Amino acid sequence: MLKRALKQAIVASGLDRAARAVAGGPGAVLMFHQVGPALAGGGWSANEGLTTDPEVLAGFFDTLLGEGYQLVTATDAARRLRRGEGGRFAALTFDDGYRDNHDLLLPILERYGARATVYVATGFIDRTAPMWWFGVERAVAENDRVVIRTPNRVHEFATATADEKTARYETIRRMFYGFAPAETRAAVEGLKRDFGIDCHEIADRLSMDWSDVRALDRSGLVEIGGHTASHGPLAAMTEAEAWGEIDGGRRRIAAMTGRAPLAFAYPYGIAATVSERDIGLAAKAGFESAVTTESRPLRSGDAERPHALPRIALGGDDDWVTLRVRIAGLGFGRAGDAGWYAPHRNAEGPASRPSAATAGSTAA
Ligand SMILES: [Zn+2]
Repeated sequence: MLKRALKQAIVASGLDRAARAVAGGPGAVLMFHQVGPALAGGGWSANEGLTTDPEVLAGFFDTLLGEGYQLVTATDAARRLRRGEGGRFAALTFDDGYRDNHDLLLPILERYGARATVYVATGFIDRTAPMWWFGVERAVAENDRVVIRTPNRVHEFATATADEKTARYETIRRMFYGFAPAETRAAVEGLKRDFGIDCHEIADRLSMDWSDVRALDRSGLVEIGGHTASHGPLAAMTEAEAWGEIDGGRRRIAAMTGRAPLAFAYPYGIAATVSERDIGLAAKAGFESAVTTESRPLRSGDAERPHALPRIALGGDDDWVTLRVRIAGLGFGRAGDAGWYAPHRNAEGPASRPSAATAGSTAA
C-alpha cells in the first residue's frame, strides 16, 4: 500500500524525528483497549483495531524508550504538561477494563518497569453494563439483515455482503453514539431477542473483576482511571445522568480500591459524544485530567484544557512505524478507515440518525 510505503520512507529517512522536534510537542497520550493475540484473518469483522498483540505492544515500549520517551501515567503526563517540564513522555492508556489488561498487560509492564493507565467503566466490572459494539459486530457478521430496535422504531439494515456489513456497522455504531440510556437498553434487548446475542454476557466474559482491578492498582505500575459507570455516550444524556455516570464511576472506584481516580477518559471520545458540559463535569468531579480521542500529540497549549486532552489510537495491525509517524504529529490517523474512533469526523457535529437511504425505519 502506498500509505504504508510512505510511512516507511518517512521513518527510514528520519523525517519523523525532524517533524517531532517541530510539531511533536512534549509528549503524547496513546490509546489501547484489549491486549491479546492478533485475531485470525478470514471472516468479516469490525473491532480488530481494539486488540493489540502483546509482542507488538512490547515493541512499542522498545520504540518509545529508544526514542527517548519516558513511560508515565496519564496523571503524570497531565502534570508534566502543566509544569512545562522538558523531556519527552508518553502515557500508555487502556480503556474499558478488559481482563487481558490484568493477564497480559501487567506482565509486560513488570518486564519493562513501565507505568500505564487503565480507564475502567465500573459497570463492566460490576456486570451491569453491556458491550454493545461486540454484539452489533456479531449480529452484522452472522446475518444478511440486522434490525436495531429503539423504544419507538425498528431500524432495518441490509448486511449481506462484506461491503454492506462494513458500511452498516459504521452506521449502527454512530446511531449508538447518539442513543440516550433508554435507547441503548432497548437496542441491547432487541439484539438478544432477535439474534440471541447477549451483550451483557460478552462484557462478563471480557471484563476484569474487582480483585483484578485491585491487583493492578496494588502493582504500583498501573493507575486506575475513571471511564464512567455504564459507558454510555455522555452528550446524549441529561446533565443529571451524565453527572451520575462521571461522579458515580469515580466514587465506585474509590470505594473498591481505596483510591479516588485522578484521570478520566470519555467513552467513545469523539466530539459527537463529548459536550463542553461533560468536559466541565469531569473537572467538577475532581479529575485532574480527561482524554478525548482527538488524534494528535500533546501541545504545550493543551495545559490550558486538561479535561480535553488529545489521544492517539493504536491497535489492530498498527506497528512501530505507524507509532513513530503518529507521535511525530504527522497525521496518518484513523481517517478513512473503519476504526472505531473517528475524530476526523468531529466536524460533522452530533451523531446523525440513519437516513431513509440506509435504514428502512418503521414505527414499532
Ligand atoms: Zn471505552
